[in-house]
Amino acid sequence: MDTAERVRRIKPSPSTAAAQRVRELKGQGLTILDLTVGEPDFDTPDHVKAAAIRAIEAGETKYTPVNGTPRLRAAIAGKLRQRHGLEYTDRQITVGGGAKQVIFLALAATLDAGDEVVVPAPYWVSYPDMVLANDGTPVIVDCPEADGFKLTPGRLRSSLTERTRWVVLNTPGNPTGAAYTPGELQALAEVLLDHPHVRVLTDEIYDEIWYDDGDNPSLAAVEPRLSDRVFLTNGVSKTYAMTGWRIGYGAGPADLVTAINTLQSQSSSCPSSVSQAAAAAALTGPQDFVRETVDLYRARRDTTVKLIADTPGLSCTTPSGGFYLLVDCRPYIGKFTPAGVRIENDEDFARHLLESRQVAVIHGAAYGAPGYFRISFATSTDILTEACARITAACASLS
Ligand code: PLP
Repeated sequence: MDTAERVRRIKPSPSTAAAQRVRELKGQGLTILDLTVGEPDFDTPDHVKAAAIRAIEAGETKYTPVNGTPRLRAAIAGKLRQRHGLEYTDRQITVGGGAKQVIFLALAATLDAGDEVVVPAPYWVSYPDMVLANDGTPVIVDCPEADGFKLTPGRLRSSLTERTRWVVLNTPGNPTGAAYTPGELQALAEVLLDHPHVRVLTDEIYDEIWYDDGDNPSLAAVEPRLSDRVFLTNGVSKTYAMTGWRIGYGAGPADLVTAINTLQSQSSSCPSSVSQAAAAAALTGPQDFVRETVDLYRARRDTTVKLIADTPGLSCTTPSGGFYLLVDCRPYIGKFTPAGVRIENDEDFARHLLESRQVAVIHGAAYGAPGYFRISFATSTDILTEACARITAACASLS
């Protein structure tokens, strides 16, 4: 069967492909230390599961409003008010099957052929493909480590054209863990105020997985004059270990939200009713789980950053949020394995880690960061420690 052009333009997510390769190797009986996983290794909190069970027993098992149950939308509005002082009406909030679907629908609702979307690199793997799938043109803007992997006002300004529809800002970011300070957001906002035709999609899925002192701000709160142009997206997947429940949300201009709802009404009808009940309980219930897991992530982050720093030739920036490290392996590009194979790029380096020491990571080029690789520290300290020892040994074997 012939597939549509829009499908041929895109590729499956590299993290899904990496997970598949790990499964294959495990199937061959190998013990793989898997640092590719983009989801918490914790179970969903019990009170959230209990809310879902109650919803099932109470018969909340039917279609819900397209844009989510009033209870969940109120919970989302409450979170955004409490966290950022942002006020959204009911008509400005939509709920979808994960932040991923909400972002996809926002692009589908707004892009015509040739419209441009500015994507700062390193980026979450899905943005460029989602833009391509919706007929848009991703405009990749390199944000080197020297700039903290962040978009600067100068780079933003020179990336904007008359065709720019969106700028994507992921903070804290995957794969770098970099987060914009209020001052940095304000400086980007000044540029955006000069370009009223540009909207900003903020992806704040890691907002609660936050390690630094001080606030982790949202662009819409930092610059209220942009609030009618910012579409804020978030979800419960990462914060509450709910990746499989598939609930994400978006808040922003009512016209955009209405367009997204129209698309949703003709595609999925609504997100899962039971998952929505669970997500409302997660957002409004006790938040101890979040504090406890962030403390654990912080300890794992510190351990892993130190082990990487102690490995000759590898280095990484300490992330402010999220659960990933982006490790610079450029000193090893051009070296040879004991079998005489030349490491041409980060993909070869990642393959060397997997084939020689059974450590799975994702190569940086998948995130627009060639010469780097991504480690997820959403796994136990024992696994992280053993994996780092193996990475050190794999590096030492290159000459
Ligand atoms: N945005 C970023 C930056 C992510 O890393 C992910 C998941 O990996 C998502 C969005 C998707 O989250 P959800 O599970 O809500 O679709």
